Amino acid sequence: MVIVKGKYLIQDPEKCIENGAVAIKGTKMHRVGTFDEVKALSDDNTIVDLGNAVILPGFINIHTHLDLTNLHNRMKPTNNFTHWVFQLLGARMRWKEADYTASVDKGIRCSLEAGTTTVADIANTEYSFSVLKKSPLRKVVYKEVIDLNPEHVKDVVLKTQSELSAYESDGLFHTGLSPHAPYSVSKELYHAASQLAFQTGLPLCTHIAETQDEIEFLTKGTGNFPAFLRQLRAMPPDWQPPGLTPIHYLKGTGILEHRPILIHCNYITDEEISLIKSSASSVAFCPRSHRFFGHTNHPVQKLLDTGINVGLGTDSLASNDTLSILDEMKFLSLHHAVRPKDLIAMATVSGARALGMETQTGQIKEGFEADLCGIRLPDGNSVDVYGQLLDVASKNIFTMVAGVVCYKASFP
Ligand SMILES: [Zn+2]
Repeated sequence: MVIVKGKYLIQDPEKCIENGAVAIKGTKMHRVGTFDEVKALSDDNTIVDLGNAVILPGFINIHTHLDLTNLHNRMKPTNNFTHWVFQLLGARMRWKEADYTASVDKGIRCSLEAGTTTVADIANTEYSFSVLKKSPLRKVVYKEVIDLNPEHVKDVVLKTQSELSAYESDGLFHTGLSPHAPYSVSKELYHAASQLAFQTGLPLCTHIAETQDEIEFLTKGTGNFPAFLRQLRAMPPDWQPPGLTPIHYLKGTGILEHRPILIHCNYITDEEISLIKSSASSVAFCPRSHRFFGHTNHPVQKLLDTGINVGLGTDSLASNDTLSILDEMKFLSLHHAVRPKDLIAMATVSGARALGMETQTGQIKEGFEADLCGIRLPDGNSVDVYGQLLDVASKNIFTMVAGVVCYKASFP
C-alpha cells in the first residue's frame, strides 16, 4: 500500500491528527489515522513522507475559466466590468486552437501545482472539454451558453445538446451546463437550460449578482450593459427589463430548482439570501477576483451564518494572480476575517457538496477517492496548525488525484 504521512493530517474541518497518515489502495483511501496505526496494517508499504507538512483533502476550485490562463497580466484591475470584457474579447480575438489548448493546459498544471484536485471549469470552446478530459484532474466542465435573443432558444439548445453528447462521463470527468449571466442569457434560455437539467441531470451554474450594473440592467434596463450589448449586436430590439433583482429574476426561470452554483453573489439582499437558502443552491465566492473588480463587502459571512453552502473559486487569471485555492484562503483570512475551519470547509467539503461529490471527495475518509494535497508549513513557526497553514510562507508540495501522484515538489 502507499502511505502518505505528514506532521499533521486534517481529515475534515473539525478533525486534525498529529503525525497523521493515510493509506491508499488503488484510487481510494483505505485507512486514516496516526502513522503508527496506519503502518501496522501491512508489511509491504511504500511511504511518502511529506515531513513538516499538513495533509488535507485536495482543494476544490468551484469556479474557474482555465482557457483564460494565458491572459494573466494582460488586463489591469478595473471597476468597469464591461470595459474588461471588451479587453478580454480583444486579447483573444486572434486565438486559434493551439492558443486555447495551451492556455487550458497551463491552467491544469497551475491547478495541480497549487494542490487543487477538482475543478469546475467554464468551457467556451470544445478545446476546454478535450484538454480537460485527458487531464488527471477531477472536473466538471460546464458548457457555457450565451444568447439574449429569445428567438434563438431552440437552436442554442439543439447545438448544446449535440455538443455535450460528444463527451461521455467517466470517473474523473463530468459535464455541466452554464447559462452565462442574466445580461447575456434570455429568460427563455434560462428556462430551457433548467428543463434540460431536469431531463438529463446535468449540473448547472450561472454568474449572478456580480456587478451593480447588472442590477441596474435587470431592474431598470439602464447602465453600461445596453450600450455594451448593442456594440456586440447582442441586444434584442424589443428587450424589456424584468424589473427584478438578480436572484428574484432567477427564481422565475426555474433554475433555482436544480441546486445550481450561483457564481459571485456580490450584491444580494437579505430576502435574496433567504431564497438561496431555501433553494439549497450553493454560492461560489471568488475573493481575489472580487477585489480585482473593486467590489467590497461581499456577504460571505452572512451566507455562512445562514447555513448556505459556500465554496471557493479562483475565477480566471484574467482577473487573478494565481489559480491557488490556498491563496484565496489566505486572502479571506486576512481581509474578511473568516474562521480557519470555515475556510477549510469552503475549500474542500463545501466545494464537493456544490458539485454533488460529497460522498466521494472533499474529506480524508476511508472509502473516499484518494484526492489529497500536502502543504509544507513554515519552519520554526510556533502558532497552531491553522495559523501555519494560512501563513504567507506555506506552500503546496504534493497533489494526488484518485491515488495518482500528479505533482510533487522537491523538498528536503
Ligand atoms: Zn466566471
